[in-house]
Amino acid sequence: MAKDLELYQWFESLGWPRSYAGKAFLVAFVVIQVPMIALIVYILLTPHESSRLSLLILLPLATLLGGILVISAFKLLLEPVKLAREALDSYVGENQVIPLPTHFRDEVGSLLSNIAKVIQIFEIRRSNLEQIAVKDYLTGLLNRRAGVERLQHSLDLSFRNELPLCIAVADVDYFKNINDNYGHAIGDRVLIALSESLQQIVRGSDWVARWGGEEFLIVLYTDLEGAKIALERIREGIAQLKVSTGLPDNSELTFTTSIGFTLAIPNDTIYTSVERADKALYTAKREGRNQVIHFTGEWTQISA
Ligand code: GH3
Ligand code: MG
Ligand code: MG
Repeated sequence: MAKDLELYQWFESLGWPRSYAGKAFLVAFVVIQVPMIALIVYILLTPHESSRLSLLILLPLATLLGGILVISAFKLLLEPVKLAREALDSYVGENQVIPLPTHFRDEVGSLLSNIAKVIQIFEIRRSNLEQIAVKDYLTGLLNRRAGVERLQHSLDLSFRNELPLCIAVADVDYFKNINDNYGHAIGDRVLIALSESLQQIVRGSDWVARWGGEEFLIVLYTDLEGAKIALERIREGIAQLKVSTGLPDNSELTFTTSIGFTLAIPNDTIYTSVERADKALYTAKREGRNQVIHFTGEWTQISA
């Protein structure tokens, strides 16, 4: 509870006045009595020798004190309104959620709890939209857009910390045949099984994205030897997957992938690194598929 909400909280525990306007009227009414109370106290304490002069001094002073008290009390009473404004400002301006008290029962209390509710609803919708924007709808992996951003981040991290980085592109072999023979829905199941397997195999900071139809980007923080071992393990793992064909004979299908990879080099970009991995993938396809190929060719940059 914010410290400045103490007066408001005190009214809440008192349970009266119930309305916010009632609280404001009560504060004003009580504080307006300060000069009169001061006068009564003065008369009681100095019954015989009251001088007009000291009364003239006392009354304006007591009025001034009453004025200061009423302003301070109203300031405190307005604290929840200020808090509501701060919460809205920081959510609209910086997307920061400030927790708001929701137990107050008057008009301002319901303003606070409604603002808290609206912010919560917006937060849920925002995070859902964020998920939709970065995730591939079919496999739940990062989509290409998010993959591009993540790859830039991985390249930056690798350059900054001089970490070796492997960029690989995996593509399902003869995927069109799977669609043609068993239907698109089974093709989708193959992609889902493949994605689940990739997610299980890659570790910690390594990651995977769906780069295109049946193409996946795999990014591993490892050197050449590590990359060969990890990608070979991925290729083997995928070749062992079994997906139901959906046919009455309960048969299952297997499939393979070809993987091309490269290691990040100085001044690499998303496009140059993926381009080399793509070239290696093309070689893997040409040389019989179901294999992992490291880019070793002459590197002449095609795209900037
Ligand atoms: P290759 O071994 O040379 O890679 O041959 P391929 O048949 O795998 O490659 P090709 O590019 O000829 O076919 C890819 C197919 O992937 C064509 C396209 O209809 C299919 N595809 C793309 N996205 C999806 C998807 O989301 N679901 C399904 N079921 N199929 C998809
Ligand atoms: Mg393919
Ligand atoms: Mg392809």
